[in-house]
Amino acid sequence: MHTTLRSLISLLVPAAALTAAEFQIADPAEFGRCVAPDARLTRLASDLGFTEGPVWVKAGGAGFLVFSDIPRDELKKWSAAAGLETFRKPSRNANGNTLDAAGRLLTCEHSGRQVAVLEPDGTLRTVVDRFEGKKLNSPNDVVVKSDGTIWFTDPEYGLRTNPQTKQREGKEQPANHVFRHDPKTGRTVAVVKDFLQPNGLAFSPDEKRLYVADSGSPKHIRVFDVGADGTLGGGRVFCTIDQGVPDGIRVDRDGRVWSSAGDGVQIFSPSGALIGRILVPESAANLCFGGDDGRTLFITARKSLYSIPVKVAGAGR
Ligand code: MG
Repeated sequence: MHTTLRSLISLLVPAAALTAAEFQIADPAEFGRCVAPDARLTRLASDLGFTEGPVWVKAGGAGFLVFSDIPRDELKKWSAAAGLETFRKPSRNANGNTLDAAGRLLTCEHSGRQVAVLEPDGTLRTVVDRFEGKKLNSPNDVVVKSDGTIWFTDPEYGLRTNPQTKQREGKEQPANHVFRHDPKTGRTVAVVKDFLQPNGLAFSPDEKRLYVADSGSPKHIRVFDVGADGTLGGGRVFCTIDQGVPDGIRVDRDGRVWSSAGDGVQIFSPSGALIGRILVPESAANLCFGGDDGRTLFITARKSLYSIPVKVAGAGR
């Protein structure tokens, strides 16, 4: 597009810029059940540092989105009524966020090296910060199962890399695990130990499957069978992301897996077949379902926050 024309359009389209969404559709019938052909992608916020960890908070009637700006050390809040606000700063470089059954906000902190919970009285309390007596690396993303157990990933992205040795500074864990923490017993168990950089994770609607993304060189999502006692079996490769890496993932009510990717959001059937892609102008790091009817997809992508109406709600809360 001509530069002058682009400038003129940017003047005419203030704040929330609407763009006709671009799709790449592999399975038209299934994609049509996910997104309407005329759905529009909206940029809700821009000029942020690096956005991650969106979660929709139903606060009574009018809900709002909480998400992380990791390098700016801030949790942001977005609502249709008030736009963009600060939710918490400093955030100890918060990354992934989720809600537990009581509606409390759980947050993974990179520099805090812990998973923390925001209590109703406003106190921020440590849930877990160690495994086998050693500090966690930098918890990245978290989900809560209906039995109250807290499942989170602990890659090393939040630890500084020494430019000389190329080693992560301050790393105490021998590897990068997926953990299950039981708040009733205080016990933390490493449930997956063979990932390079475990990242987003999500349960299937019946919680019989757990999907975990590896943002390291495998660039794939694996699927595990979840036993009644919380142990995991299986672990086959569910899908591989061909643009960028998988980071945050969500499952919809029908069991499809929606993954962030370098080209936006890629949607997969429960059998792992690509249904299609929602192309986003910036590389997507995470996503969540939300909005008052649960049928808005929020996408954190580098310096911006986007949304697009979808035709299905997310699984779980
Ligand atoms: Mg992540």
